[in-house]
Amino acid sequence: MLLEKKVALITGAARGIGKQIALAFAREGANIAFTDLEANEQSQQTADEIKALGVDVRFYAGNAADFDAAHQVVEQVLADFGHLDILVNNAGITRDTLLMRMTEQQWDQVIQVNLKSAFNFTHAVTPAMMRQRSGSIISLSSVVGINGNAGQANYAASKAGIIALTKSVAKELGSRGIRANAIAPGFILTDMTKALSEDTLKQFVSMIPMRRGGEPEEVAKVALFLACDLSSYVSGQVIQVNGAMA
Ligand code: NAP
Repeated sequence: MLLEKKVALITGAARGIGKQIALAFAREGANIAFTDLEANEQSQQTADEIKALGVDVRFYAGNAADFDAAHQVVEQVLADFGHLDILVNNAGITRDTLLMRMTEQQWDQVIQVNLKSAFNFTHAVTPAMMRQRSGSIISLSSVVGINGNAGQANYAASKAGIIALTKSVAKELGSRGIRANAIAPGFILTDMTKALSEDTLKQFVSMIPMRRGGEPEEVAKVALFLACDLSSYVSGQVIQVNGAMA
């Protein structure tokens, strides 16, 4: 088991990529703390699936973009589990439109949920990880955070910010045994991408040399690598999971 007795906190994990990361970690023996906006059938279903794998699981409802709420979640996780080894900053949203039509609210929402949430949780876990002199912080960026994308200026900027945050955290905390890495998925088949129009979907797939979208499980396998000791000397990196999409 790659993560036996480790504790992982994953934000926005009731569904999608976050859920698959939680399940992949649990299969390797990690106890799982996960968050999402609210407790509902979906979060209960995810908790039940994780529990069925024989590990401890707890769900924490809250807005990852809220600084105080994020700190409260981390405090509670430490009280419930005693320690915290892995953080996955996964919560994310899109509010796509061309820049000239983008409202201030659409810009602010995406930056707050995608980028500020990663700051909030990284800030909150740092003291505990520094004390234990170990930790792996994984944040979900995106291919568009590297290349930009028409119609996604807010989302692309938030995901580029994740990369700079990750590289800075890796430099600040490396001497304390804490690693920080980002995953930049390409086009992954989740609710987020199902919301795109059929034309946009076709356009995306035609740009992917592997000629298909990725599965959330394929992102989860890379998160598992970054979470465990197989990547013990990997830090400050961005791993693209994109079927060779440029
Ligand atoms: P998804 O299916 O839309 O799931 C996102 C999850 O985040 C949902 O469970 C959602 O909760 C939760 N969430 C949203 N806002 C939140 C908030 N303020 N606080 C806490 N939780 C919140 O998305 P996904 O495709 O799995 O994406 C996961 C991550 O990968 C995101 O950061 C995304 O940007 C990134 N990514 C995805 C793709 C892709 O192609 N799918 C590509 C590149 C990067 P609710 O259920 O309550 O809405």
